Amino acid sequence: MAGVNDDGTVGDDGTADDAGASRSPPAASVALDRVGKTYAADGDPVRALDDVSFSVADGEFVCLVGPSGCGKTTLFRVVAGLTEATDGRVLLDGTEVTAPTTDMGVVFQEYHLFPWLTVAENVGFGLERSDRPAAEREARVDEMLALVGLTEFRDAYPKSLSGGMKQRVAIARALAVDPDLLLMDEPFGAVDAQTREMLQRELLDVWASTGKTVLFVTHDVAEAVTLADRIVVMAAEPGRVREVVDVDVERPRERGDAAFAEYVGRVRELIGAHP
Ligand code: ADP
Ligand code: MG
Repeated sequence: MAGVNDDGTVGDDGTADDAGASRSPPAASVALDRVGKTYAADGDPVRALDDVSFSVADGEFVCLVGPSGCGKTTLFRVVAGLTEATDGRVLLDGTEVTAPTTDMGVVFQEYHLFPWLTVAENVGFGLERSDRPAAEREARVDEMLALVGLTEFRDAYPKSLSGGMKQRVAIARALAVDPDLLLMDEPFGAVDAQTREMLQRELLDVWASTGKTVLFVTHDVAEAVTLADRIVVMAAEPGRVREVVDVDVERPRERGDAAFAEYVGRVRELIGAHP
C-alpha cells in the first residue's frame, strides 16, 4: 500500500517519501545567528549579549532562562525587532528581522493594554490595520476571546480585570493576527502563583491547538520545565548561552515527579555555575 512513510506517517501527496533527503528536519522558524548587543551607556559600555546563536523550530516551544541582568529582555527586544543588535542577525522563516512585524505576536510582562479600549477592542487592535472586512475581524476577535476564556468580558475595560485576565487579553491580542511566532517576556511574572500555573496550562492548550512556535522568556526555572521542549540557559556578563537543555518529559508535567525535579535541579545548577 502506498503513502505510508517509514516512520508511520502518511505522505501529503499519497506516496511514501524516498529515504533520506526528503525527510529533513522542519525549517527553523527563528534563528539567532551570533547576535551581540552592546549598550553604549554614559559610563562603561555594557555587553548585554555576546555571540548568541540558537534556533527555534517550526511549532517548537522554547524557553529562555537565566539570572536577572543576563540579557533576556534585550534578546526578546532584538528578536521582536524593537532593539537593533550590534552584531549578528535574527532570521524569521529565513528573512532577517529589522523592524517589528505582524509575523510575530509579542506579549510583554506589563500587559500593555489600552485602558480606553474594551477587551474586544484591545484584542482586535492589530486587526484594525489589516484589510480584512469588519465582519471577519469581529469573528476573529470572538474566536480569540473564546480561546482564552474571556467571551463574557468582551465589553469590559482593562481596569476591571485581574492580572491573569489582562494577560489573557494580551495573549489573545498577540494571536489575533495569526502570527508565525509567539514571543513572550516573563508574561506571568506579575500574577500570583496559583494564577500563574493556570495560565501556564492554558498557554500549553493554546500552543497545542494553534501549533504556534513559541519563544518564552522567564527567570522561573520550574515554569521553563513545565512549558518547554527545550530550555536555553543563559549566563550573565556578558549575556550568553550557557547550555541548551532538552526536556524529555511527557506533558502534562507534574511538579511532584522525580524527572521534573531533576530538570529543575540541573537547570538551577547551570544558572548558578560560574565560568
Ligand atoms: P534581563 O532581562 O535578563 O534581566 P536585560 O536585557 O534587561 O536583562 O539587561 C541586560 C544588561 O543590559 C543589564 O546589565 C542591563 O543593565 C543592561 N541594559 C538593559 N537595557 C539597557 C539600556 N537601554 N541601556 C543600557 N543598558 C541596558
Ligand atoms: Mg528582563
